[in-house]
Amino acid sequence: MGSAVMREAVNGIRDWYLTEGRAADTAPRGSVIFGERVFNDEVQRARLPKSVYRALRRTITRGEPLDLSVADAIATAMKDWAVEHGATHYTHWFQPLTGITAEKHDSFLSPTADGRAVAEFSGRELIQGEPDASSFPSGGVRSTFEARGYTAWDPTSPPWLLVSGRAVTLVIPTAFVSWTGEALDKKTPLLRSIEALSRQAVRILKLFGSTAERVITTCGPEQEYFLIDRYFYLNRPDLINAGRTLFGARPPKGQELEDQYFGAIPERVMALMSEVETELYRCGVPVKTRHNEVAPSQYEVAPIFEDANVATDHQMMTMEALRRLAPKYGLACLLHEKPFAGVNGSGKHLNWSMCDDQGNNLLNPGATPHDNMQFLVFCAAVIRAVDEWQGLLRMSIASAGNDHRLGANEAPPAILSIFLGDMLTDIFEQIETGRAKSTKQGGLLDTGVMVLPKLPRDAGDRNRTSPFAFTGAKFEFRAVSANQSIGFPNIALNTAVAESLERAASELEKSVKSGKSLEEAVYVLLRSIVKDHKKVIFNGNGYSKEWEEEASRRGLLNLKNTVDALPELMKPAVVKIFEKHKVLSERELHARYEVALETYVKTVNVEAQLMVLMANRYILPVAFRYQTEVAASVAAVKAAGGLSCQGQKVLTDMTELVDALKSRADTLANLLDHNGASPLEHARHIRDAVIPAMLALREAGDGLELMCPHETWPLPTYREMLFVK
Ligand code: ADP
Ligand code: MG
Repeated sequence: MGSAVMREAVNGIRDWYLTEGRAADTAPRGSVIFGERVFNDEVQRARLPKSVYRALRRTITRGEPLDLSVADAIATAMKDWAVEHGATHYTHWFQPLTGITAEKHDSFLSPTADGRAVAEFSGRELIQGEPDASSFPSGGVRSTFEARGYTAWDPTSPPWLLVSGRAVTLVIPTAFVSWTGEALDKKTPLLRSIEALSRQAVRILKLFGSTAERVITTCGPEQEYFLIDRYFYLNRPDLINAGRTLFGARPPKGQELEDQYFGAIPERVMALMSEVETELYRCGVPVKTRHNEVAPSQYEVAPIFEDANVATDHQMMTMEALRRLAPKYGLACLLHEKPFAGVNGSGKHLNWSMCDDQGNNLLNPGATPHDNMQFLVFCAAVIRAVDEWQGLLRMSIASAGNDHRLGANEAPPAILSIFLGDMLTDIFEQIETGRAKSTKQGGLLDTGVMVLPKLPRDAGDRNRTSPFAFTGAKFEFRAVSANQSIGFPNIALNTAVAESLERAASELEKSVKSGKSLEEAVYVLLRSIVKDHKKVIFNGNGYSKEWEEEASRRGLLNLKNTVDALPELMKPAVVKIFEKHKVLSERELHARYEVALETYVKTVNVEAQLMVLMANRYILPVAFRYQTEVAASVAAVKAAGGLSCQGQKVLTDMTELVDALKSRADTLANLLDHNGASPLEHARHIRDAVIPAMLALREAGDGLELMCPHETWPLPTYREMLFVK
């Protein structure tokens, strides 16, 4: 079987290069096609009556409510535009608590009395949808009698056309809420958290003389992913059902040669990347960079940053486009955090900053002392937020999949710390001691006026081991995982920073009111933040054992796995800031906590069941056959009077592994027959009993892979999946 799959894959690749690969047209110009499938500002302006357009702009920029007549006019224009572009259906697209995105398509078609039909779309249908929501997880927020939730149009993220085969669908980004107004999704709290941060940031800007009225957060998420041949994928039940390989011996060549990072991109992969980019340009997603990543067959795509809400939707679209289009090129896209043991997993670096409504990036160190003071206040507020809300941030990236990465010396450790780079660290040190140093560039004058040179754009970005790094004008939350939405990490970060900014604003306002100069007030604030929170700053190697020890001495949290991390969400202090800043209520938080726990349990359960199945029905039959063959060979040699028989050694090893595989598969199956007293208990059982049993079973399976003849092996191997392109 091993070689049959290989033959098919090789034939498929050959055919591709001989046909499509040869015939491929060059990609259309990005500047021409960009946004052509988006009901964007330009289209809105052209198609909407002036008064309607203005009302919509007011809704988008200031959050003013839309009335139904305006919505009707928008819906009609939107429908006409979509139908002209071939759309037959529309969907309210939303982000439920688990999974990626959800959509249910409705036709525009409406029958008429004379037996014909017309395309119709009302304002009410635009604004509000009612998916049959009862099977989306709600963590108990929706009891069965109020099982319905509804989707509500988010006018700040523009609708777009999804073209899939011959079907064109108008996709309307929406929030998903229960009838009692509770958020059942990731968008609603994201929007609330951006507002919360804005309220506090504006207070600080005001002290610095700014007239800005709103602040948004900006995001540029870098997505890592694997592409492997689809034949291999379709022959791996674990990849199909769990997204990662549950068995698979380490190949002789892994990533040790480091010959892949930034290397030339294989042509078939490039063709897919190019189509994904074209597709995303058409839908207004500004993807910018693409390259090979560290592991074999691993790649990355990154966009130009946008406002966090749109960026979050666009990130989802990017993942979906990769997954959807890969089969056209005979490829499968793996977005799991750790599809292959022994080579790097995939992350999603969340580049994050704050920007006022005049276009100023608040994390951009400026040229004047005044600008720099403001920059340092925002920067220090983020430092305090990360230190104080480490647990929350750690929780926001916790999942069964990310447990394989964090702390595995390939991804940032599970300990949250901040990489600031030498120059900023030096400046904060000077602020703390109150002494200006003349040795380094920049520094602090006696008067407490900060002078900061323009930081080089990429001051020290080369520290890949930090989970949270200042990379010149933005922070990069690097522990986020490839497969997750950036929604919740953003929500957690925004809420933590909002809280920190609120305190900063209150302290500064108070000092200034009491007659201190702004410089003095800022100086006092910064000094106290540095004193209390410098423990979270770490510029060294996050992978080292010494850091783990040092971090524990500093009192930083080291929550090694999802089960340890999830309860952080329900800590009273965390609940308090979420409620105070009106991002999520205790009930809404609890719903997320429950869903996350449940997802963890279900994910590992599926994996474990698959392992039992694969052990018994894929690996064991093959191993038994080979064992019989070897036994026959040994018997034959002995019967022929052979004296030394190495075959006996093979038989002994085989027998040990076969026995181990069978007994460990049974043990694992028994362990799955378990119901915890509480969801947390159950999750602990999964972590402490089930996962170790899975590792033990895998060890036996991988041992057998290395012994059985290649052509009989029932699964594509790492060697093939990772290196045949
Ligand atoms: P680096 O080399 O530090 O990774 P890049 O310029 O390649 O920097 O940017 C990486 C990502 O960070 C890109 O997606 C980019 O759009 C994003 N980014 C840059 N500036 C900001 C910002 N102010 N806010 C949010 N994201 C940003
Ligand atoms: Mg980067």
